[in-house]
Amino acid sequence: MFSDAHLHILDTVKKLEIEKTEQEDSGYFVEPCVDKIFMSDVSFCASAARHEVFEEQEELCQKFAKNFILSFGIHPQKPVEDELAYLEKLIQEKRIKAIGECGFDLFNDEFKALEAEQKKIWNEQAEFAVKYSLPMVIHCRKALPLLFNEIEKLKRMPAVIFHGWAGSLVEANSFLKKGVNAYFCIGKGLLRGQKAQIQVAEKMELSRLLTETDAPYMCLKEQKFSLPVDIKLINSELAKTRHIHTTDEFYSKIYENFKRAYFL
Ligand SMILES: [Zn+2]
Repeated sequence: MFSDAHLHILDTVKKLEIEKTEQEDSGYFVEPCVDKIFMSDVSFCASAARHEVFEEQEELCQKFAKNFILSFGIHPQKPVEDELAYLEKLIQEKRIKAIGECGFDLFNDEFKALEAEQKKIWNEQAEFAVKYSLPMVIHCRKALPLLFNEIEKLKRMPAVIFHGWAGSLVEANSFLKKGVNAYFCIGKGLLRGQKAQIQVAEKMELSRLLTETDAPYMCLKEQKFSLPVDIKLINSELAKTRHIHTTDEFYSKIYENFKRAYFL
């Protein structure tokens, strides 16, 4: 069993639908791709940031997927408060296994201008994660110092899953040393040859590693978008990076991490 700790199923399907209308004759559309999105040997956590996306995604997964869990979180790039009540409703109805993706994004000036709002939304969601004892899926770009300021809260969460981890091995280990039950996702960065991802993929304690596609986002240069099926490529590249030859056993270990991180 493979595991994809973070992706967006509905957005992926939407991308394929756009592709379909653009290339009507090519025969490249959703139906033939269903087996590249919903695979019986992949367990995944699909994330949404808006209630209408969550509802549609939940329905899609129930219809086509066998092994899935859902998460919901207000994204730092769009830190709006009007989804907070919906998030709490989902928690109370036990429809999500994690909160997120949420966190901080100071990647460019547009997002930097939202720092105060990001902090406010972060605080609210962090409180939920602690109060309801749910894992948190973190999105963090150019903002690790802000997260290090949040150590006390992170320590009180059952698990913290760093999606798109772009920090160093030292930074990753420092969360663990400070007592955060942290997991680090390896994704397309590894395929792109991103230095920090390679280092973490190579040296991080195996029990702390997860794999993700973040489909349809996080793609390679030649791709317009990525597909969930790419998780298999990421897993095999990760095995190669760690010089593992018994790959099936290795993928199972990553899947065990996935189950542990999300308390499944
Ligand atoms: Zn994402």
